[in-house]
Amino acid sequence: MNKDIATPVRTKDILKKYGFSFKKSLGQNFLIDTNILKRIVDHANLTEESGAIEIGPGIGALTEQLAKSSKKVTAFEIDQRLLPILSDTLSPYDNVNIIHGDVLKADVKKVIEEEFAGFSDLMVVANLPYYVTTPIILKLLSENLPIRGIVCMLQKEVADRIAAKPGTKEYGSLSIAIQYYTEAETVMIVPKTVFMPQPNVDSAVIRLTKRVQPIVEVLDEDFFFIVTRASFAQRRKTILNNLTSQLQDGKAKKELILAALEAAEVDPTRRGETLSIEEFGRLSDALLPNFK
Ligand code: SAM
Repeated sequence: MNKDIATPVRTKDILKKYGFSFKKSLGQNFLIDTNILKRIVDHANLTEESGAIEIGPGIGALTEQLAKSSKKVTAFEIDQRLLPILSDTLSPYDNVNIIHGDVLKADVKKVIEEEFAGFSDLMVVANLPYYVTTPIILKLLSENLPIRGIVCMLQKEVADRIAAKPGTKEYGSLSIAIQYYTEAETVMIVPKTVFMPQPNVDSAVIRLTKRVQPIVEVLDEDFFFIVTRASFAQRRKTILNNLTSQLQDGKAKKELILAALEAAEVDPTRRGETLSIEEFGRLSDALLPNFK
């Protein structure tokens, strides 16, 4: 029987054997608790027919548990020094493929076509590098990939913002950008002690399940995101003030913005954080003819 990779002793042995030193700049905090890893994988609801895509396998701690719970795992790893380690630690598994490269630069759609032809269920599961959590998630969601969703570890503070509901102080353009594509829920809070080295921030695992039906149908997605970002530019300002100061020629078009707010049934004195995604959808469609 193989010893799991994710124990403090085995991890230290592997690091020592290869003389590996952590690169903080690559967000390298490895998980050393097999129970936590199994619980993360459970939240992805994989079957033996599922495909799993991992970002940043490190020394293979999560990859190993994914290999045991799915048909195939393909993982993107940016750090070349980890490649020989991974081929050693994951040698007991014949259903794992590691791709060397930056996931932010990768053509993930093409990789899925090549690696997972014929798969009907695909999940992204990852302990993300914290310096690029948001760009990675937004890339995976905006590229319309054939995935069921994402289960990932990230900073708790970012998880709180992603899953936030209107009317809370965490709710903002990031909550909307992600909830536009997915249903977002925090499924685990994870202590610092299960990482090597321990990160400075608290961590959480979120599950993002792609929506079958969009939460709102908007005329222009790009403009919808422009409007949501503009509405939160200064949280203490009203939506009217934010839109006039942020949208192109907003000051000159104040009357048109007021008319759009009225058409969308949004009181101009409200703050962005009180609007639901549906209300932002109506507002963006009402503003669109005068701003694009
Ligand atoms: N999955 C391992 C675990 O849970 O122990 C390691 C997770 S560690 C938080 C993040 C990993 O992502 C590191 O292995 C790091 O080298 C890798 N990484 C960082 N930036 C990346 C990028 N842009 N593309 C792919 N991998 C990246």
